[in-house]
Amino acid sequence: LAVRFHGTPFSVQVDTIPIPTLSAPTDAVVRLTTAAICGSDLHNYRGTAPSADGEVPYVLGHEGVGYVHEVGEAVGSLSVGDPVVIPFNTPEGHLHTDLTRSLYASYGQGGELGGTQAEYIRIPLADEALIPVPSFITTDPATNETISLENDYVMVSDIFATGWAALDYAGFHAGDTVAVFGAGPVGLMAAYSAIIRGAAKVYSIDYVSHRLELAESIGATPINFRDSDPVDQILAREPNGVARSVDAVGYEQLNTNLTLQSDVILHNMLRVTSPGGGLGTVGVYNPRTNSSTSAPRADTIQEPLSFDMSSFFGSALKWQAGASDPIALAPWLVSLVSSGRARPGFIVEEEVGIEEAVEAYARFERRGVSKVVIKF
Ligand code: NAD
Ligand code: ZN
Repeated sequence: LAVRFHGTPFSVQVDTIPIPTLSAPTDAVVRLTTAAICGSDLHNYRGTAPSADGEVPYVLGHEGVGYVHEVGEAVGSLSVGDPVVIPFNTPEGHLHTDLTRSLYASYGQGGELGGTQAEYIRIPLADEALIPVPSFITTDPATNETISLENDYVMVSDIFATGWAALDYAGFHAGDTVAVFGAGPVGLMAAYSAIIRGAAKVYSIDYVSHRLELAESIGATPINFRDSDPVDQILAREPNGVARSVDAVGYEQLNTNLTLQSDVILHNMLRVTSPGGGLGTVGVYNPRTNSSTSAPRADTIQEPLSFDMSSFFGSALKWQAGASDPIALAPWLVSLVSSGRARPGFIVEEEVGIEEAVEAYARFERRGVSKVVIKF
């Protein structure tokens, strides 16, 4: 069973497809036990991914954990039965940061690489592409009960690494104050990473109340941008601004009237970040040129953003943007989970079977739920 996108906006279906087989000696096949639905899958779902009209249908998903099911003869470091995390980037993407060639579910590129929202997936260059973990189960020291870590490890595939990277991009140091725009899964992971990395204070900005409640539950200060200007709310508490700010939203950002305005966060970051501070952007900005074969949807057209260069220069800020590199970060993040220092699975609000994935996509798209995982 696999969750597949069929080419037109919102056309997601659970289909029966052949179990993938090894096609190179360096391949492995993984049997998934948990996969997650990401905000980036929504670009495909809404039909706004760069080439969502490419080869369809294709399997969705780039976050997953499971057990090695089969290994090619040239795979050296993995054995059948090993528990592994599947990072969203491939070894090729890890080396070249070329997103168009390096994502499972191919971010709209079609059949070449499968997605993780399926019972099985073929993984090329498995030695570098898969991150082994000690075990998916552990004993809770407080209760002595056996607990599963799958929901924690599946966040290492992408959003825990991405939230972590957003802070690196912003130049984070322990003791900094941080403003995280967006309390979706990625923003919550950025806020959580800041807290476990020793931030002095973390502000989480969104308007979705249950997401802000989740932010508050981990120790962040919730800021609802529908109440009043979010920067004014933060400056009332931090007159000098915050040291670091993070964009965990991307181009589909809303202004206070809840209409799309893709530069509102950049301007807010420039206003809220104190001199010498840093900006980290991990929210996605898709290529402006839409597909040549289908008319662009009105809500996907992105104009070049206006940028307040004089504030940027005057405050001597730094700014880094881009995809994260879970292959590079996974060894540390896996250690934080296995040692019990991080439990990013707190973010999961719903577990569904694959048969319920279509409804789960619709709920996630409406922001009715923070993070959904599919259990196999
Ligand atoms: P999401 O859509 O669930 O969350 C986005 C949140 O931003 C929503 O809760 C929304 O209410 C909020 N928001 C909208 N406008 C806002 C504003 N002006 N100020 C503050 N909050 C606002 O998505 P997600 O899963 O959290 O992902 C967020 C972005 O990160 C997406 O663009 C996704 O593609 C991207 N992403 C990037 C990487 C990477 O490697 N860089 C990895 C994963 C996801
Ligand atoms: Zn993702």
